[in-house]
Amino acid sequence: MDSLQRVLIVDDEVMNLRVLSELLREEAAITLAKSGEQALRKAREQVPDLIILDIKMPAMDGFETLTALRQSAITKQIPVIFISGLNDCNYEERGLLLGAADYIFKPFHHGIVKARVCTHLQLVKQRKMLERLANSDSLTGLANRRHYKQVFDQEVEQSSTSHSPISVAIFDIDNFKRFNDRYGHDAGDRLLQQVSKQLSHHFDHPRFLVSRFGGEEFVVLMPELYKARALELVKGCLVEVAESCEITMSAGGVTVLADKEMDDSALLSLADKALYLAKSLGKNCALWSQAQGETVDEF
Ligand code: GH3
Ligand code: MG
Ligand code: MG
Repeated sequence: MDSLQRVLIVDDEVMNLRVLSELLREEAAITLAKSGEQALRKAREQVPDLIILDIKMPAMDGFETLTALRQSAITKQIPVIFISGLNDCNYEERGLLLGAADYIFKPFHHGIVKARVCTHLQLVKQRKMLERLANSDSLTGLANRRHYKQVFDQEVEQSSTSHSPISVAIFDIDNFKRFNDRYGHDAGDRLLQQVSKQLSHHFDHPRFLVSRFGGEEFVVLMPELYKARALELVKGCLVEVAESCEITMSAGGVTVLADKEMDDSALLSLADKALYLAKSLGKNCALWSQAQGETVDEF
C-alpha cells in the first residue's frame, strides 16, 4: 500500500488546526504549524505534499509565507491552498496570482475541503510520477542531468546556510569507443548499466546523488564532504570498477564551500578540467581541481 501523503496545516488559531487535522486525518499524515515562521521551518524539514495556509496571522501572514516558500529551491514546488476568513474576491485573486493552487473561504464546508484536498493530493501523486520519469535516465535508471540540477540547487541552499563544503566528481569511461567497436553497442549498453550499479552502490548515501549526464559520463554530487574524503571515495570507486567491470574510468573533481550565488555549470567545468588532465596523464586515475580557492580541505 502507498504510504500516506503529508499535509502541513498552518493557522494561528488552535481550534482551526484541530478541526482541519481531524477532518483530514484519514487522507494524509498531518503536520501542524501555528505561524508563518514555523510553517517555513517545517516545510523545509519535511517537504510536505500539500500546505493548507491561513492568511490572517500575526507577524508573517499567509501571503508572505507563500512568497517565502516560493523563493526556496526546497519548498517552491509544494502546492498551497489558502483557507481564509477573508472572503473578498480581491484576496482570492491575490492569493491565486501569488501561485496558490486553490482558495477556500471560512467558514468552510467540511465535505468540500476534504474533496478539494484529495483532488490536490491526487495531482501531486501524478506530478511526482511524471517527474520520476522526466528525472531519470532510461538506460541506467540513474538521475539525469535535469534532476542533478534540481538537487544541486537544493543542496547549495542547504549547505550555504551552514557554510558546508560540496564536492562534485565527473567520471568518464576510458576508451569506451574501442569497447563498443570491439563488442558491439548492446554490450556497451550493458556495460553502462553495470557501471551505473557499481557507482550507485559505492556512493550509497542519502545525501549523495549519482547521475548520468549522457554518453559514458557520470556525475556524483557529495554534499558535506571535504576534498580528502571525496577524493578517497572516488579513487576507491575507480579501483572497484576496474576490478568488477572490463574497463577503467577516469575522474575529475572539485570541492568548494557552498555559497548561494554558486552555479552548477561553473563547478562542473572545474571538475571537467581536472578530468581532462586525468585523461591526458594516461587515464585510470582521479584528479582534483587546483583552481585557487577551490581546493578545500578540512582543517
Ligand atoms: P576517452 O578515454 O578519451 O574518454 O575515450 P572514449 O572512447 O571513451 O570517448 P569518446 O568520446 O571518443 O567516445 C565515447 C563513445 O561512447 C562514443 C559513443 O559511441 C559511445 N556512447 C555514447 N553513448 C552511448 C550509449 O548510450 N551506449 C553505448 N553503447 N555507447 C555510447
Ligand atoms: Mg488567522
Ligand atoms: Mg570516455
